Amino acid sequence: MERRALGAYLGFAVGDALGATVEFMSVAEIAASYGVHHNLRGGGWLKLRPGQVTDDTEMCLALGASVIDGGGFEPRAAAEALAAWLVGTPVDVDHTCRRGLRRYLGDRSLSAPPSAGDPGNGAAVRNLPLALASLGDHAALEHWTLAQCHLTHNHPLSDAAALALGRMLQALLLGGGHKACRAEANRLIAAWGQFNFRPYPGRASTLVVETVQTVLHGYFRTDSFERCLIDVVNRGEDADTTGALAGMLAGATYGVGAIPRRWLGRLETPVRTAIEAQVQGLLRIARERLQDTIGCS
Ligand SMILES: [Mg+2]
Repeated sequence: MERRALGAYLGFAVGDALGATVEFMSVAEIAASYGVHHNLRGGGWLKLRPGQVTDDTEMCLALGASVIDGGGFEPRAAAEALAAWLVGTPVDVDHTCRRGLRRYLGDRSLSAPPSAGDPGNGAAVRNLPLALASLGDHAALEHWTLAQCHLTHNHPLSDAAALALGRMLQALLLGGGHKACRAEANRLIAAWGQFNFRPYPGRASTLVVETVQTVLHGYFRTDSFERCLIDVVNRGEDADTTGALAGMLAGATYGVGAIPRRWLGRLETPVRTAIEAQVQGLLRIARERLQDTIGCS
């Protein structure tokens, strides 16, 4: 299970770094520039170093640290951690996250007002540490996920995506494989038909519905970590975020040993070290919470 958890978090960071090179490019532009994009070469519109991650991984690391420090998720600690990250001039930050964190810095409120229109993927993408720390406790996953998302995003489709991805990750960590992940995808689509991904609608934008469609379409039609990530990031658009989430699911499925060494070896060392420590800390919290529950019953 620890190998799968490490695979999920390192896979997330690898997918972020791989996809960032081709973020906001079209399929045709990627093909013209790289043929098939398959190396952690950096660059892209953010002019990254090879192996450098972006906001997606940085937000996870900020949240993960706050969860470990507090022995569990606490909304104000999470808001403080994300706000401190924003103030530290991150390499990139999406519009809704910036707006939400600025609201928090202004009035210290822990929930964005409900939003209309189509929601972005910024809250759903950073939920990984909460899913690790609440492993085995479905109620905590739901409660923590919604509070986390609402710090910046308050929309039922963002909530549904974050919850579904969290449940998929937990099912995969427990060894359920594609089949258990598919059951969660089916549950999501039964409740919110917008997320149906077959036939694939063809867009991989920052809208959370298109992000999830792209990730699931690529994940279910491939059978290795490497093929899954190459499939997903070569669709361009919000490729760092789709790459990160595909890396999370594929890493949790195939384990850390399935991440190609040429990718893992390129991931920047401070990020890799922080992720390895957070996986230990977050799983320890999950174990201690479960022992407390058993002790109380
Ligand atoms: Mg990004």
